[in-house]
Amino acid sequence: MEIRKGIGVSPGIAIAKGVVIDSKDYRIPRRSILDSQRDKEIQRARNAFAAAIRSLTEISSRKTIEEGKIKDIFAVHMRFLQDKTFRKRITDFIDKERVTAEYAVSAILREIASHFEGIDDPYISERAADIYDIEKRLLTHLLGKMREEMEHLREEVVVVAHDLTPTQTASFNKTFVKGFATEAGGRTSHTAIISKTMGIPAVVALGDMTSAVTAESLVIIDGNRGVVIIDPDEETLRQYRNYAQQISLFVHQLDELKDKPAQTKDDVRVQLLGNIEFPEESQAVADKGGEGIGLYRTEFLYLYGGAEPTEEDHYQAYAQAVKVFSRQPVVIRTMDLGADKLPQTIRQAPETNPVLGLRSIRYCLQNMGLFKTQLRAILRASVLGDVRVMFPLVTNLQELRQAKMILRDVMEDLDEYAVPYNAKMPVGIMIETPSSALTANHLAAECDFFSIGTNDLIQYTLAVDRGNEHVSLLFSAAEPAIVRILRSVIHDANKAGIGLSVCGEVASDPEYIMLLLGMGVRTLSLASPMIPEIKKIIRSVTIEQCNALARRVATLDSQRQIKNLLRDAISQILPETV
Ligand code: PEP
Ligand code: MG
Repeated sequence: MEIRKGIGVSPGIAIAKGVVIDSKDYRIPRRSILDSQRDKEIQRARNAFAAAIRSLTEISSRKTIEEGKIKDIFAVHMRFLQDKTFRKRITDFIDKERVTAEYAVSAILREIASHFEGIDDPYISERAADIYDIEKRLLTHLLGKMREEMEHLREEVVVVAHDLTPTQTASFNKTFVKGFATEAGGRTSHTAIISKTMGIPAVVALGDMTSAVTAESLVIIDGNRGVVIIDPDEETLRQYRNYAQQISLFVHQLDELKDKPAQTKDDVRVQLLGNIEFPEESQAVADKGGEGIGLYRTEFLYLYGGAEPTEEDHYQAYAQAVKVFSRQPVVIRTMDLGADKLPQTIRQAPETNPVLGLRSIRYCLQNMGLFKTQLRAILRASVLGDVRVMFPLVTNLQELRQAKMILRDVMEDLDEYAVPYNAKMPVGIMIETPSSALTANHLAAECDFFSIGTNDLIQYTLAVDRGNEHVSLLFSAAEPAIVRILRSVIHDANKAGIGLSVCGEVASDPEYIMLLLGMGVRTLSLASPMIPEIKKIIRSVTIEQCNALARRVATLDSQRQIKNLLRDAISQILPETV
């Protein structure tokens, strides 16, 4: 039995067989197999060779590469792939060392490449690049097969990986994928967010662990405590099965709150909205008692489909979300691509520092065609219900004005064709940079609402990458700087009389709800599975208690003190939520 500690990012317990997914560009970890799996792995390696030869033959025969240097390079690759001694070396390695085909291919080819690199002859040392290329070719077939297998799962598994892209996470079949455990990532990385929306327990930032999971390993994922247990002993397994039962009972009890209002004991009403990535998730928000959509992350339309979505793709998606909430707010955030959410198809030249680069509203303002297409669709959908548009990552007034000007242009275009839209559609922005937080009073004068994106606001204020496991412990909303910046934005929004919500992960963290209420927040937007628990907290406290807590927090000067105080406060009122 092995116990690993990481960060729990989506609550719940999952117990199932572990499946390790390797990413294409990642070092393949050594993974042992059972004696009974040797033949299968050897056959997988042979199949990968056959498939690589087939695809190389096909590529080399294309007209464009009939002549020249590329053809010579491919000939070298082909000779290598057909070399019987080389192939035998790999299958012998699987046989003797009892490792996966991926590991054998990677280990042997990297050994050959580093041997070439060490030879003091430029012609030979340059051949190392060919060897790495051959490794990639073979791995593409081996890992591709794995991806296919993931699509056709027939039994329950937990997915273990170095990291998962948001698209990968979102594409897993929830019927069979019961949990995620990743070596990388942080509390608010997008993989974490998606697992929470899907209601799948997940633990991230586990450090080196994929090599510890074999093909037969049973894995427990404890998303509440941030723990992963590989091959648990009988007693641990029994305890966890009990614990999982208690949790499902608790969740079941919470569902009874569905039709009760999110209202404090002293009758202050709070609005609970849902965060969604895909339109079909609106129904889950409604089922959990959500009162609308506070954040529709539309970039997933770009990430998922492969090609750039058309105006009709946008419109259909928005119409589907609005259909569930035809009388309640649906806040559509314009695409927030960039950083860790950028599809290959529209990737620019790689940026050195993408988190500070051409992302989000900046990308839209430089790619007017794409931006206008989305705005047209949002405007068309605006007549279907209470649709609101929101611009992400706005850093200054100039950007807000530019975005609004483009929105007006699009309205004029629609006027020309007599296409109906709501000319009074509310326009809001996300506050997720220190720059916008510090100038919130100016921004509030020119928009209808703010939504505070604490995930990015914390990242940019504390200079802590939200997806980097090495600094994940530094990422905390309990830092005095964050409390102060939140207080200031809430004050500016309330003073200007505009709408205000919090839609970052803090809004679904039981420990922060009393503080947010005490600082004056009355609308929260969060992943649907968390809505009942947050409602339960709201219904168990008084605003008096929350105000007093917020006042005490304001006097503290360290993250640890604040965190302890918040935890104590909620655990005294509702011990089962912490
Ligand atoms: C945020 O930054 O807090 C937010 C809600 O947006 P996203 O997580 O999509 O960046
Ligand atoms: Mg953000």
